[in-house]
Amino acid sequence: MFVNKKMVHFMSEKLVWMFEEVDATLPTKELKLMYGGKGAGLVQMVSMGLPVPEGFIIPCKYCLYYAENGSWPEGLEEQVDEAVQKLQEKSGRTFGDVDNPLLVSVRSGAPESMPGMMDTVLNLGMTKEIAEKLAENNPRWAWDSWRRFIMSFADIVMGTGRKPFDEIMDQMKEEKGKKTDIELDADEMKEIGELFLAKYTELLNEEFPTNYRVQLIAAINAVFKSWDSERAVAYRKMEKIGNLGTACTIMRMVFGNMNDNSGTGVLFTRSAMDGENKIDGEFLANAQGEDVVAGVRTPTNLEDLKEERSELADEIYNLAHNLEQNYKDMQDCEFTVEDGKLYFLQTRNAKRTATAAVKVAIDMLHEGLIDEKTAVLRVPPERIDELLHKRVSPKEKQKPITKGFNASPGAVVGKAIFDPKRAIDLKKQNEKVILVRKETKPEDFPGMQASVGILTSRGGKTCHAAVVARGIGLPAIVGAGELEIDEDNATAKYPGGEFAEGDIISIDGLSGNVYLGEVQVVEPEIAGEFAEYLDLCDKYRTLGVRTNADTPQMVANAIKNGAEGIGLCRTERMFNAKDRLPKVVKMIVAETLEERIAALDELKPLQRDDFVEIFKVLDGRPATIRLLDPPLHEFLPNYKNMLVEFTELRVQGIENERRDELEFMLRKYEELKEENAMLGHRGVRLGNTNPEIYKMQIAALMEALMETENDGVQVELEIMLPLVAHVNEVTRLVGILKPYAEQILSDAGHTPTHPLKWGTMIEVPRACVTAEAIAKEADFFSFGTNDLTQATFAFSRDDVEGKFLLKYINEFVPPILVDNPFEHLDIDGVGRLIQICVKEGRKGRADTHDGERLKVGICGEAGGDPQSIVFLQKADLDYVSCSPFRVPVARVGAAHAAILAEQGK
Ligand code: PEP
Ligand code: MG
Repeated sequence: MFVNKKMVHFMSEKLVWMFEEVDATLPTKELKLMYGGKGAGLVQMVSMGLPVPEGFIIPCKYCLYYAENGSWPEGLEEQVDEAVQKLQEKSGRTFGDVDNPLLVSVRSGAPESMPGMMDTVLNLGMTKEIAEKLAENNPRWAWDSWRRFIMSFADIVMGTGRKPFDEIMDQMKEEKGKKTDIELDADEMKEIGELFLAKYTELLNEEFPTNYRVQLIAAINAVFKSWDSERAVAYRKMEKIGNLGTACTIMRMVFGNMNDNSGTGVLFTRSAMDGENKIDGEFLANAQGEDVVAGVRTPTNLEDLKEERSELADEIYNLAHNLEQNYKDMQDCEFTVEDGKLYFLQTRNAKRTATAAVKVAIDMLHEGLIDEKTAVLRVPPERIDELLHKRVSPKEKQKPITKGFNASPGAVVGKAIFDPKRAIDLKKQNEKVILVRKETKPEDFPGMQASVGILTSRGGKTCHAAVVARGIGLPAIVGAGELEIDEDNATAKYPGGEFAEGDIISIDGLSGNVYLGEVQVVEPEIAGEFAEYLDLCDKYRTLGVRTNADTPQMVANAIKNGAEGIGLCRTERMFNAKDRLPKVVKMIVAETLEERIAALDELKPLQRDDFVEIFKVLDGRPATIRLLDPPLHEFLPNYKNMLVEFTELRVQGIENERRDELEFMLRKYEELKEENAMLGHRGVRLGNTNPEIYKMQIAALMEALMETENDGVQVELEIMLPLVAHVNEVTRLVGILKPYAEQILSDAGHTPTHPLKWGTMIEVPRACVTAEAIAKEADFFSFGTNDLTQATFAFSRDDVEGKFLLKYINEFVPPILVDNPFEHLDIDGVGRLIQICVKEGRKGRADTHDGERLKVGICGEAGGDPQSIVFLQKADLDYVSCSPFRVPVARVGAAHAAILAEQGK
């Protein structure tokens, strides 16, 4: 036989591991990469002495081998057989032995948690003969387990889907006049099993396999294949999880549905909703795991179990506490009680809301369980957004139509949509939809992702909808039991009324309230543990955080959110207000310099007053004010509208002042218009050709500075020139503007508290590569990565997203681009330019200014993106600047970046 190198390698390797054979002292990260998160948790629990059923693991890498080769590596089949042998010995049970049968679960488990995204097969090894024998003691449990196995094997391994089997169940319940599964008796379950077998043969044209080996190999393959299922791939893409494969864990089944002395449950060692230090769990008697997760029946709270079965509850609480102490993080555990004996089946670091993440991090720090840096790293920066989520206003008068479990926070308004596919379609049309379902299943994930919120009538806080929504930060309410949802007809009845597809509803994931129509929502605030957490982040970050703001209100909001100053004030945005635009237009259309200066003189006091207000709000913090940037024609009225109005007047032969005015404006528009306006007469180019415009802005700034300082508030002013490509553009303009500013100050006898700084926006590739020369003339740099990305890729920033960029990212397989470079810095291109620019710029400044360090910031969109911040930290920037509401995200991002850099990551 031909044996390739890989095969030889695998043949000499240990491919299959019994739980106790794994070295559980290895770092958790390593264990997870090899044995998956679930496998790592199991082997660690075994080594801690927790009660775990016997089992073995096939590591993740063989899933990848299977995906690549369509077959197993040499030796795997033999080693699985050996492991089965050991499992039989350890458990004292044998596959196919009707008197003492071994039944196993075959589970997926990736290195990073992907809840509900991949497949699991339960009760493998079950046959009718075994069920018959088990039925002698416990008929209902035996037949229920049998029919469950047939269904899950057909659905998951053979790909039939659940529906044909669910229909049989529903029909049986209807015939027998029973509402829930639990009411079906043993004979009825047996009958269902027979019907399932017949359905299996009908659907697949073959008999149901009774040989355990055939079942096991097929189930392992199904687990491997589920790694590349559509929903798993979509989830990995969203969560940026690499192609690491899933492990496959084969473990003896323990039965929570054996009798009333059995049951199954899940718990969080603290509240996953708000982080309260109290075990939050649910237990469902006489049930198997999937019943809890699917949310089909509503479980008992663990608190109540304390009263009903205190010994069992104590044992669960103690073991859960041990696990948390061991992992030093909040755990999410699954356990089962089989005829009174407790087993832990899984533990993992719990997914949690951002509120919970912050509280748990701060509490564990206070409890001495973790140190400050660990506490900072416990909250992913992207999740901070959630804490800045809206809530329903306490002043809202509307009464909720119903209430469910508050599964994931945030208040949202949207159209009720009952079908996940429809949600995806509507998302493409930019509609905001709330997905309304009885319950959600893993295959609904893309539809959930396309929605702004989730509402279900079934399930508890740990059901699929709740876990997934929390994971992706989507507001959700589950188990709103009063809702009678009819998915086929797209309607939902509530006590006293009904809503249908397309009706506007509002949900508040924090309170669990559901409203008909739109409700008032309010902004969140920074207080308590959140404020403490952000202060902790400030302690560790070395990057400054500023804001991009151009109104006093925006500046005030940003300061409230922790901004240390303004990184970018786009002065052109101050021109857009109603009282200014006509004056701006007058300035633009002026035919002579005198006319233009007269128009600018009218604008100056308005700009000055705006600056005074902004400086006062800043209260001494630095302000980078950018001089006018965009092309002038952008301020003129809409060309098409003017043309239509003019043509109508002309066709009607009307000759009046308006027609003359329109004719004049159209001519001006033609004069100013450019084919490539973004590459045109704007920024420093306009400043150099028409210095009177910048001079007006400088005069307004100087007057504002003096007025503010005379009122006792210091001003730290940095004046920024946009769109610099050549050092001479800076030299000439600064040569004009600097003496002009100094003259104004000296005429008034004012010495500013901080010397004026003159700097440049770096948003043209040429400026990056000639940074050494520019830095000799500029006191500071600030990267405008919106334009820099546009120019580096030759991507029109106003067009690409609507044309092809999203295809590049979302549709092509493999994708051409992984991320939108306007949101997340393009490290290889734009990032490289930034590195060159910082290095050369610092050198130029130090060489000519006595070793002075050039100050460098970023104010493009990517400035507030945590992923980009990690890079910017390494590139040695001084500060990032972002919109006011992103400021807390940037503070956390910067703290992560600093700690990671220190740890060499
Ligand atoms: C930029 O180009 O990155 C920038 C911040 O400026 P604007 O978006 O105003 O062009
Ligand atoms: Mg720009």
